[in-house]
Parts: sequence; structure tokens; C-alpha cells
Amino acid sequence: MKTIIEPFKIKSVEPIYMTTREQREEKLRHAGHNLFYIPARDVIIDLLTDSGTSAMSAAQWAGIMRGDESYAGSESFYRLEEVIKDLTGLTYIIPTHQGRAAERILFSACAKSNAVIPSNSHFDTTRANIEYSGAEAVDLVTEEGKVPSLVHPFKGNIDTKKLEKLIKDRGPERIPLCMLTVTNNSGGGQPVSMANIRETSDICRSHKIPLFLDACRFAENAYFIRKREKGYEGRSLKSIAQEMFSYTDGCTMSAKKDGLVNIGGFLGLNNREWAEKARNLLIMTEGFPTYGGLAGRDLEAIAQGLVEVLEEEYLRYRIRSVEYLGEGLQKQGIPIIQPPGGHAIYIDAKTSLPHIPQLQYPAQALLCELYTHAGIRGVEIGSVMFGKKDPQTGDETPHEMELVRLAIPRRVYTQSHIDYVIEAAGEVYTQKENIQGLRIVYEPPLLRHFTARFEPF
Ligand SMILES: *Cc1c(COP(=O)(O)O)cnc(C)c1O
Repeated sequence: MKTIIEPFKIKSVEPIYMTTREQREEKLRHAGHNLFYIPARDVIIDLLTDSGTSAMSAAQWAGIMRGDESYAGSESFYRLEEVIKDLTGLTYIIPTHQGRAAERILFSACAKSNAVIPSNSHFDTTRANIEYSGAEAVDLVTEEGKVPSLVHPFKGNIDTKKLEKLIKDRGPERIPLCMLTVTNNSGGGQPVSMANIRETSDICRSHKIPLFLDACRFAENAYFIRKREKGYEGRSLKSIAQEMFSYTDGCTMSAKKDGLVNIGGFLGLNNREWAEKARNLLIMTEGFPTYGGLAGRDLEAIAQGLVEVLEEEYLRYRIRSVEYLGEGLQKQGIPIIQPPGGHAIYIDAKTSLPHIPQLQYPAQALLCELYTHAGIRGVEIGSVMFGKKDPQTGDETPHEMELVRLAIPRRVYTQSHIDYVIEAAGEVYTQKENIQGLRIVYEPPLLRHFTARFEPF
């Protein structure tokens, strides 16, 4: 059969509220042309993020009822610990309320002066937590990963030559750990190959540097390994995921992605001294080490989610639905980052809207048009998010790329929802010459993309 159907039936539904173009124009004006200000109820298809937006299964909801809410030694914790140990082989498992809490605790526990922490690409919260601890975060993704139109199976790989050079130049004693983000979120959701994980591990071990995975999308990465890497064709997805973790000494994880839950995360590690420090920090800001800022029921839902996410049918549908959106856009001549990643499609707005200068924010303008035309919400990854402003002169340097990210929540939308997005984007593109650039009329000093306000030029 050619059609890959959603491998689930729907038992509980949420309404989508329909709006007219006129209504959406008014809402967008009111929101200062910033989609973060639009109430979710005024969005028809919400592709803002794949984080914390998953639909839970009946088995996860059953787990919610089973959750043991004991302060210490909750049964739900032991269940979660067992699932994570089976998956990762790691010794110490510490639950946290989100991925970034695991990051903060890890980087505080391993902090040393002048520390340098390399990665393929650090996610923005990871980078912020590293820098907050006083260390330097270094991105070393391969050259292939930097060319949007290039089709390559593993554009998330770390450049191992650059890693070796960094270790030599800075000295291994300054590198408390090395990270690999799987899949590489900041680089378009592109996977990392098993060969690359193994080679990175070999390099790190020869210098006694622990290797950690930022494991948010480990299952999607495992699926790409099986599909694209020689020698993994016949393997189970779980055994591939286990092999990925076997080359590492620890991980941070946001369960809001491949944990298939709405909140939660964890830190896993082998180093006893770091684990002790991490637990003490956890008690100070998150909670006792057997719940770490979560309810017992949340631990239960994560334990079940980590099992379901490796199911064959699920991952086949998941990766295909993202690819399907990418293909549908491309067939209409809409340029995207190639090949489609695991959780999102990134439209190249700079190429699409050459009549809008970068400092009139072409990706933001395209997002606004997708919203007014069809009620679709995505997120800008371009000069609004990453443009650099000189605090003295106010001069602004644009980001190298102007992207519209359409992230797909897990198990939430059906194929007809995705068809609607493809159709809407196609219609927007037939009249793209009419899209106007934007100028910023208000911005805060930091992280302006969340709260800036715009007006059409
Ligand atoms: C989401 C994410 C994080 C942070 O996790 P939160 O649960 O949002 O705190 C870290 N790394 C990557 C790669 C992510 O995608």
C-alpha cells in the first residue's frame, strides 16, 4: 500500500475554531504582526512548535491515573527509571521539569574555569545555560549541514576534524564534556549518523572527555539511521537507540519531544560525583530526586511515551508526515531546507521573497501572510530572532538565513490538515509579490522575537 495512514484512532477531540480572513487581519493588527501574541484559539493549524504539543495515548492517560504521588520513592519514578536505564544503559537517572532544567543542573555540576563545551549545534537553551555557567559553547556542525539546498543523509553530523583540532588547541582538560544534539534542532532537525556518534565517542574517550547526547529527538534520529545508514536496515529501532546511547556517558532530554508528553525531562549520567552534585542542585530548585519538579503521573506518562515513541508504525508515520509536507511544498516550487528533517519543515523566505530586504524581515512577513490567508502559525528563524543590533549606533546585521519553520506536533494533525497547509502555502506563493516587508515599532533588549511589535512598510 502506498498510503501510510495515521496509526491511531481518535478518541478525544478538541475543536478548531474557524475564522475569516477579515477577522484574522484584525487579530494580526492587534497582535502587532507577532504570532506569539495571537491567542491559540484564533489559530487554525498551529505549527509553532513540536515541543509539549504531543497528543498522549490511551495508555499514557491510564498511566496518569496510576501515578504514585508519594513525595519520596514514588513507584512511578522506579517505573520511569527502569525504562530509561533499559534504553540508555546509564547509571543515574534524574527527572527534571523540562530539558533546560537538566541542562542547568548538568552544567553547574561539571563547571570549571575557562571551560569549553563543543557540540554539533547547541540548542538555544543549552547555549544559554553553558554561557550562564561561565563556559564557552562551540558549534562544530559539518560543512554539508550549512548548505540549505544540499541533499545529504546526515547533515546533523559534527565535524570530527574540527573537534580534534579544538581539543588540541584548547586542551582536553578545559573540556568537561562534549555534546551531540540528536536530531540537530538548530540545524533543521537533521540526523547524526551512528558512525559519527561512534567516531566522536572514540575521539572523546581517547582524551577522557565524556560524551553526552542532547537526546530530545533520539527516536526520530534512530529512524533516520535505519533508513539511511548501511548495516542498520534490519535492526529494531530500540536496538539502534540503545546503540546510540551505548557510545555516551550521559544525556539531557526534554520529554516534551520524543517523550510524547506535555511536560517533563531528565538527566542521565554515569559519573557518580556529578550525579551527587546534580541531585543536590535538584533538591534546591526542582524537587526531591525521585520526582524532580514533576508529579508522579507525569513520570508515568513519560515512561509510557518513551516506549511508544520507538514503535515501528509510529515512527514510519511520523517521519513520513513531515516529509509529505516538504514534498507538497516543493512540488509548488516553494524552496525548503533539504532534505526534510524529523520534526519540521523550514521554508527559505530569503529566496522566496527577493523583493523584501532582509531588514524588512521576509520570513516574518511570510508567516503573517500564512496566518491571514489560512490561520496557520509557524515561527520565524531569521533576522527577527538572530539579527544583531549595535547598541551604540542601532545598526542591525541580518542573520545569514531567513526561515519560516513549520514544526509538526506529534499525533495531533491528520493528513487532511497537512493537505490544507500545502494548499494554503501554494496559494500564498502565487501572490507572493504582494507581500509587504515589516518594520519593528517596539522591541525589548533581549529575545525580541517573543514580544516585538511590527507594522507593514
Ligand atoms: C527543546 C529542546 C531543549 C530544551 O528542552 P525544554 O524542555 O524546552 O526545556 C534542549 N535541546 C533541544 C535540542 C531541544 O529541542
